[in-house]
Amino acid sequence: MDRKGILIVVSGFSGSGKGTLMKELLSRYPDTYALSISATTRKPREGEEDGREYFFISKDEFEKMIAKGELIEYAKYVENYYGTPRAYVEQKLKEGKDVILEIEIQGALKVRKSFPGTLLLFVTPPSAQELKARLVGRGTETMDVIRSRMDRACEEAEGMDSYDYLIVNDNLDSCVEELHEIIQGEHHRSFRNKAFMKDIREDLKRLKGED
Ligand code: 5GP
Repeated sequence: MDRKGILIVVSGFSGSGKGTLMKELLSRYPDTYALSISATTRKPREGEEDGREYFFISKDEFEKMIAKGELIEYAKYVENYYGTPRAYVEQKLKEGKDVILEIEIQGALKVRKSFPGTLLLFVTPPSAQELKARLVGRGTETMDVIRSRMDRACEEAEGMDSYDYLIVNDNLDSCVEELHEIIQGEHHRSFRNKAFMKDIREDLKRLKGED
C-alpha cells in the first residue's frame, strides 16, 4: 500500500502532559513522525531555544509570513501570534511522515478546513481533580496563573467534541502506545487509500478477462 503521511493535530489542556507525550512518541518512532515547530511572537521562556520549541520572531516578521502565505494557519493566543510554517509540513508529508502539530483549537479547526484528512486528537488527564493537582504540583505557577489555566481549560473543554479521538493521559507509557496505534490505524481507513482501491479494481477487471 502506498503510504502517504497523515497530518495530525494534537491539542489538550495546559497540564495534560501532551508535550511530554509528543516527545516520547517521537523518540520511540523517529522514522514515523515529524513534529512541526511553530513560529511565535511571544518571548522565549527560560530554557527555551530558538528553532527547538519555537521560531521566536518579531510581529513584523510574523505579519510578512502571513502576507506571503507561508503559514498553514495562525491564531492569536493571549496577545501573541502563533502559526504553523507551511514548507516543513508539506515536505515531511511528501516524505511519507506523519506530521504532528501541537496547537490550540482555533488553529486545529482551520487546519482541518484546508487539509480535510487531518486527524484531530485531544489529550486530557483522567479527571478535573487530576488536572488541578498537576498544575498545583508543578510548583512553578502562582495561584492566579493556575486559576487562569483552569478558566482556559473550561473554555477548551467546550470544543472537545470537534476532535476525532480523546486520549486520556493516565500512564505515559501506555498512552504513547495507544496514540501510536490510533494514528497507525488511521492509515487503513478506506478514504486514505483511494489509489490502492482504484488499482485493485482495475487489476481485477483485467485479470477476470484473462485465462
Ligand atoms: P505556549 O505559549 O504555552 O507555548 O502556547 C500557547 C498555546 O498556543 C498552546 O495551546 C499551544 O498549543 C498553542 N500553539 C503553539 N503553536 C501554535 C501554532 O502554530 N498555531 C496555533 N494556532 N496555536 C499554537
